[in-house]
Amino acid sequence: MRLVFIGPAGAGKGTQSERLVKYLGIPHLSTGDMLREARKQKTPLGEIADRYMLSGQLVPDPIILSLVGDRLDQPDCQAGALFDGFPRTIRQAKTLDDSLSERRTPLDLVIELQVSDESLKQRLAARGRPDDKPEIIAQRIESYRKQTQPLLDYYAERGILERVSGDGSADEVFARIKHLVTQRCSPKTAAGE
Ligand code: AMP
Repeated sequence: MRLVFIGPAGAGKGTQSERLVKYLGIPHLSTGDMLREARKQKTPLGEIADRYMLSGQLVPDPIILSLVGDRLDQPDCQAGALFDGFPRTIRQAKTLDDSLSERRTPLDLVIELQVSDESLKQRLAARGRPDDKPEIIAQRIESYRKQTQPLLDYYAERGILERVSGDGSADEVFARIKHLVTQRCSPKTAAGE
């Protein structure tokens, strides 16, 4: 099964993705985690990405697309994948569609995690990552509105978008997501059997 999580920073994509990949037995592809790792390793790509991440802006598409392309070529992605924080622009979404259709493994489901702005701000303030400062958060919310929200129409038109409320405890949110995923696909088929 191939799924995408879309939602603003602080919506709980990371937490819910970790639970869902365990449940479905598929790899977790978080572009944010990949970029943070590249930054930690001080690779040239990590150093370029750092500037964008620390100002709350999106890292340019070519960098992201090359990271994800390399990751998709690894054998564990044959079983499926959960994309967390990717795609974030229409160009990324179209490129993902092209690479998945070349592999004859299209996306099954896109889940939008919806959380009120007020809870987002509270959650981000509690998290304390270097890009969780108020002025950077404001820029990240802006990038989300301008560049990522148009993806919702793109996926809704294709009939694969589902919306889930991200309010409440992590257990409550996961129960909603699990319900949705099992309706669409059993974990057995999800693993690509
Ligand atoms: P995240 O952990 O998903 O919130 O991502 C943290 C930061 O990494 C974002 O604010 C962006 O600067 C960058 N980033 C992560 N994923 C992407 C992506 N798909 N496209 C562009 N920038 C990204």
